[in-house]
Amino acid sequence: MTQPERSQWDVVVVGAGGAGLRAAIAARESGARTAVICKSLFGKAHTVMAEGGIAASMGNVNAGDNWQVHFRDTMRGGKFLNQWRMAELHAKEAPERVWELETWGALFDRTPDGRISQRNFGGHQFPRLAHVGDRTGLELIRTLQQKIVSLQQEDFRETGAYESRLRVFQECTATRVLKDGDRVSGAFCYARDSGDFFVLEAPSVVLATGGIGKSFKVTSNSWEYTGDGHALALLAGAPLINMEFVQFHPTGMIWPPSVKGLLVTESVRGDGGVLRNTEGKRFMFDYVPDVFKEQYAESEEEGDRWYDDPDTNRRPPELLPRDEVARAINSEVKAGRGSPHGGVFLDVSTRMSPEVIKRRLPSMYHQFKELADVDITAEAMEVGPTCHYVMGGVAVDSDSAAALGVPGLFAAGEVAGGMHGSNRLGGNSLSDLLVFGRRAGAHAAAYAGSLTARPAVDDVQVDEAAAEALRPFSAEDGAGTPSVPAPDSPGAQAPPAQAPPTEAPPAESPYTLHQELQQTMNDLVGIIRRAEEMEEALVRLGELRARARRAGVAGHRRFNPGWHLALDLRNMLLVGECVARAALERTESRGGHTREDWPSMDAAWRRVNLHCALADPAGTLAAADPERGQIALTRRETPPVRPDLLALFEKEELVKYLAEEEFHE
Ligand code: FAD
Repeated sequence: MTQPERSQWDVVVVGAGGAGLRAAIAARESGARTAVICKSLFGKAHTVMAEGGIAASMGNVNAGDNWQVHFRDTMRGGKFLNQWRMAELHAKEAPERVWELETWGALFDRTPDGRISQRNFGGHQFPRLAHVGDRTGLELIRTLQQKIVSLQQEDFRETGAYESRLRVFQECTATRVLKDGDRVSGAFCYARDSGDFFVLEAPSVVLATGGIGKSFKVTSNSWEYTGDGHALALLAGAPLINMEFVQFHPTGMIWPPSVKGLLVTESVRGDGGVLRNTEGKRFMFDYVPDVFKEQYAESEEEGDRWYDDPDTNRRPPELLPRDEVARAINSEVKAGRGSPHGGVFLDVSTRMSPEVIKRRLPSMYHQFKELADVDITAEAMEVGPTCHYVMGGVAVDSDSAAALGVPGLFAAGEVAGGMHGSNRLGGNSLSDLLVFGRRAGAHAAAYAGSLTARPAVDDVQVDEAAAEALRPFSAEDGAGTPSVPAPDSPGAQAPPAQAPPTEAPPAESPYTLHQELQQTMNDLVGIIRRAEEMEEALVRLGELRARARRAGVAGHRRFNPGWHLALDLRNMLLVGECVARAALERTESRGGHTREDWPSMDAAWRRVNLHCALADPAGTLAAADPERGQIALTRRETPPVRPDLLALFEKEELVKYLAEEEFHE
């Protein structure tokens, strides 16, 4: 077999969304030779889809805002399960990261007096989201890309080569993190166009691969969200934290079926949109939970007054955190008060003029007009919950973003866990990407620079990674040797999958397996969960896992989406099992985890984090007991919240969250 091409770097960043690009900039600025690898085209990461804005307590629209208020809101939103140190760093550093973007060329919307404008969003006490209409993510990525190009131009002037210190490998996928003993030594990758394998050797790897939404049927997420970074971390020996917390955004499109799940940004509610059921009732007033009663309006009149006078009125309950609104919509639909296609109505047409709607929400206007033939300046939208974000992820050190237990592995952005606790507030992801992307890149560079010798890449691991990647072409029982000849020669055409031996079960279609996995997660580990259903999900996932080992593809390795999906299935199955196992274990309802059989939040669970690790510590998936599954769970206690941070809350509020003994401590 031709050996994969190898190149040497100090830091490899897997992912070119907001977190990956910010990490790459920080690593390169720290002097590290940095490679970025991404599945899609450079500039096409998921972050470009972000609409509403970046949460940062700049206090431009309400001077009462500051990092302490932002910290409080984030902890409340996460129902106090957040890694509080991450929430603290995030709240403190987010404003600087936004101002920095402006110095790099980002053009934010302005207030009348010329400052960066900030808008309201669910769970944020003050208008806090810096935005560019409803296309904020696009501007964020454009700015970071521009910064990367400017660094490459700087390098060209100094070294004569644009990519001497910072190179982007676009349309390439990492399938394994390589290790030298305990330490990271690089990443095994393939190019989507040629199918060729290559190795990026580096002592530091930053995972910035985003989320897991494509494991669910109805989702706002794009094709790239197959949980790759989560799986890469697990396979490298790093645990995932709190995978049971999956955010179902309350407002996805529900009609027509081809666009079901597509996001309707929270800015619609932030800018005054109201939710009504089929009886015309503004039902959210019936769903304000006790923990939030003091902060939300009791009547429509008070809620409406808040938009003009937020200092003497309380905000409307349409702006409760997402988990609350999603559950409320679910309950209305279940009670038979839903819209014709099984959602509720979201109306902005009665609150703003058509001109203002088109200016503030241009993407939403076009999205509904073009995809659903609905004019949102004149009629209500039909909306319902959609799988949107995963709060769980790689367990990291709060300050350095280093993954637990694997020296040289770092994680930032949606793939990292802990920051958002059990539920993320809107706008807190883009700020998270910037704050922790920068930290991850800087610490990854510092770690690489601190080593006296580079870790060595193990040829056996490279061969095993290549064999694993080629397995779908053999279409046998998964234990066999791949039968694809000359896989590495450019342009090589692999023969069609061989006919299976007569006694072997037939090859499985990766597309069918993916659909079944999505349906399983949607139906049995979705927005409302029950023990029996999750047990059933685990059984089905076991069956799918066994079948996935026979996932077969035909054709060759050039731009073969069936092959790519077959490889992604490993990741989605691992992640799906983590979500189901952790959700079954947590016998309470909190944030993005709602149990019908355990409907209350239980203070005893506040300190408990569930860690998922590979059941077989050797890291070989084949050896994992198919009955038992691939994932082992352990309970870990969060360190107590620092007293000066606790002092930011009223005692009456803390009583609602903290366990008895914690409170007395
Ligand atoms: P991404 O931007 O998704 O980037 C992941 C990168 O990893 C991509 O480049 C991908 O190609 C790459 N990748 C993945 N796997 C591999 C692999 N195996 N090998 C190589 N590369 C790989 N949040 C907010 O704060 N404000 C908002 O207004 C907002 N609006 C949103 C609107 C929508 C429609 C959606 C879906 C989300 C929104 N979010 C918002 C959430 C936010 O956009 C995401 O959480 C965030 O962009 C994730 O960024 P990231 O850098 O972690 O990952």
